[in-house]
Amino acid sequence: MLFPFKVPRKGQLEAIAAAREAFARGKRFVVIEAPTGSGKSGVAVTLAREASSAYLVTAQKLLQDQYARDFPELALMKGRANYRCLVAPTHAAAAPCIAGRKFPECDDCPYFCAKEAAMAASGTLLNYAYYLTELNYQGGFGPRELLVLDEAHNAEGALMSFVEVSFSDAQLRRVGIGEALPVVLDENEWFEVAEDLVPLFRSRRRELEAQLKGARLPTETALELLAHKGWLESQLARLELLAYSRDEENVEWVALRTSGSGGQSVTLKPVKVAAFAEELMFRFGERVLMLSATILDPPTYLRSLGIDPGDAEVITIASDFPPENRPIYPRPVARLTRHHLERDLPKLVHEIIELLEAHPEDKGVIHTHTYKIAAYIARYLPKRHAARLVTHDSAEGREAALDKHLRSRQPTVLLTPSMTEGIDLPGDLSRWQVICKLPYPYLGDPQIARRRELDPAWYDWRTCLTVVQAYGRSVRSRDDFAVTYVLDADFGAFVRRQRARLPGWFLEAVQG
Ligand code: SF4
Repeated sequence: MLFPFKVPRKGQLEAIAAAREAFARGKRFVVIEAPTGSGKSGVAVTLAREASSAYLVTAQKLLQDQYARDFPELALMKGRANYRCLVAPTHAAAAPCIAGRKFPECDDCPYFCAKEAAMAASGTLLNYAYYLTELNYQGGFGPRELLVLDEAHNAEGALMSFVEVSFSDAQLRRVGIGEALPVVLDENEWFEVAEDLVPLFRSRRRELEAQLKGARLPTETALELLAHKGWLESQLARLELLAYSRDEENVEWVALRTSGSGGQSVTLKPVKVAAFAEELMFRFGERVLMLSATILDPPTYLRSLGIDPGDAEVITIASDFPPENRPIYPRPVARLTRHHLERDLPKLVHEIIELLEAHPEDKGVIHTHTYKIAAYIARYLPKRHAARLVTHDSAEGREAALDKHLRSRQPTVLLTPSMTEGIDLPGDLSRWQVICKLPYPYLGDPQIARRRELDPAWYDWRTCLTVVQAYGRSVRSRDDFAVTYVLDADFGAFVRRQRARLPGWFLEAVQG
C-alpha cells in the first residue's frame, strides 16, 4: 500500500479500492466525489504512486505548493514566468532563449533544470494553465499512464480559458499593429474581424523575427519585442483553433465586446468545451482520475467534458464531519436579484451588523458574490464594525486581503466575492461565514447565457457547485466547527429545487 499518511481515513481507503477496481474493469475515467477536507490528496497521491508515471494537475498555484510541501517526491513544475532568467533581468517567459539564443549561463537555467527534473520524474505536479500550454504547444512532456485532475470541477473552466481568444485596441497598439478594431454591429462580424487579424499577426511576427535576428540580446527593447512575438504566437494558435473548430467541428462560439477609454476589447469563446477536452486535456493520460468535492450532477459534469458515461465510474464518498459542527442557518432577509437589489441591500447590511455583533471575537468570511454588494456592505456598515473587515475591490487585491486576514490576531472578517474556493480557513481562521446571495453565473456573459439556453441543468449545477464550495471553506477537519448563514431569501426554494443535486452531507446541515 503506497498510502502517504500513517492512518488512512475510512473514506480514503474506500475511494482508493473503488478506483482501482473501476480501472481494472477497464474504465478510462474515474471520478471521485469526496467532501472538502476529506483527504482527497492522499487518494490522489496513492494512485499516482501506484502508476508507473503520472501527472497530478491542480487548479491553483497555491494548491500546487501545498501538494509539493506534503509530498516532496512529486516534481513541481510551474509556468516559465515563475523562474528567474540568469541572463537577463526578467523571468524565463520573456527571456532571450525564446528567440533561439543560448548563453553560457543557460546550462544552469532554473526553468530548464526544473523542467528536466519534471520530465524525468515518475510523478509530476503541474497546474491546469501550464499543463495545457506546455503539453499542447511545447515539447518535452509526453503521455503518462495516469492523469490526475485535482479540483476537477475546474477542468471545464481551465479549458475555456485556454481556448478563448481576447484582443483589444490597446494590445494591437502595444505589439505594433497600427489598426484599431472596427466598429461592429453584429456579433458574428467579430469572427470575420478575427479572421482578418491572422495575416496581420503573421506579418507583424515576421517583422519582429527579422528585428530580433539582428538585435543585441538581452537589451530591454529586444526583450519587449520578444514578449510581443510571444503574444502574437499564442494568439495565432488560438485563432487557428477557433477557425478549425467552427468550420470543421461545428463548435458554436460567441463574442463579448467591451469598450473603455483605451478603445474596444473583444473575447471570443466557445459555448461548450466538450469538443476540445480529449484532444487538449485527456489524451496525455492513458487513464484519468478526477477528484472534486462538487461533482454533484454526474451526467451534467461528464457531458460538460465530452466524457461518455459508459467509459466513466463515479465514486461518491460521504462526509464524516458531524453535521452539528457545521450547521447552515437560512436567514431569508434579502432578495438580491437585479430588480430587488437596491431595495434589499440595506436589509442585508442590517443582518450583517447583527451577525458581527453575535460573533464579536470570531474571525469569519462574508461571501458577497459581486464586488458591488461587497462595496455596499463596506460603505454602509457602522465604523466600529467596518474596522473588522478585510476586503478587496479587484481580483488583484485578493491575495493581499487573504494574507492580511491570515496574519491578523484580531477578529477580522473577510468580505469578498471571490473566495468561494481555493482557500482554507481552518480552526479560528473562520468560525462563521455568510453567503449573501445565491451565486448564479452572470448572464451578461453571452457564453453563459447561451449555455444556459442549451443546457439549463448546467446553469443550476454551476450555482450549486459554488454554494457547496463556499460552504466548504471554514470546516476543514472532523474536529473543526463553523456556522454558515445564508441571507438570500430564495435559499429555501433553491434547496427544494436542487435537492437531487446538493450532496446529502450539505442537506443534513441545513437547519429549520
Ligand atoms: S535558458 Fe538562458 S536565457 Fe532562457 S531563461 Fe534560462 S537562463 Fe534565461
